[in-house]
Amino acid sequence: MTYVITQPCVGVKNASCVDVCPVDCIHADDDDEQFFINPQECIDCGACEAACPVNAIFEEGSVPRRWKPFIQLNAEYFLKQRQAKKKRK
Ligand code: SF4
Repeated sequence: MTYVITQPCVGVKNASCVDVCPVDCIHADDDDEQFFINPQECIDCGACEAACPVNAIFEEGSVPRRWKPFIQLNAEYFLKQRQAKKKRK
């Protein structure tokens, strides 16, 4: 399981979650509209969920139905980064 960042982060990017994450697995570029959690690195501590001022972060199994697509969006963000790195090598 992992934690997932959803719709309320879009356009907000408060970054409180980034500050509290003990494994530094929350990322975004300046051009991105929201932050994303790397599901392969998240240790499920829940610190980010408590820190988020707009309640955008949920444990994967508790993501509201309307925001379920964000589970895939978070995972794909890092998949695309890995693929881009491989191409550059
Ligand atoms: Fe980081 Fe913990 Fe949030 Fe996972 S649950 S993204 S490890 S703060």
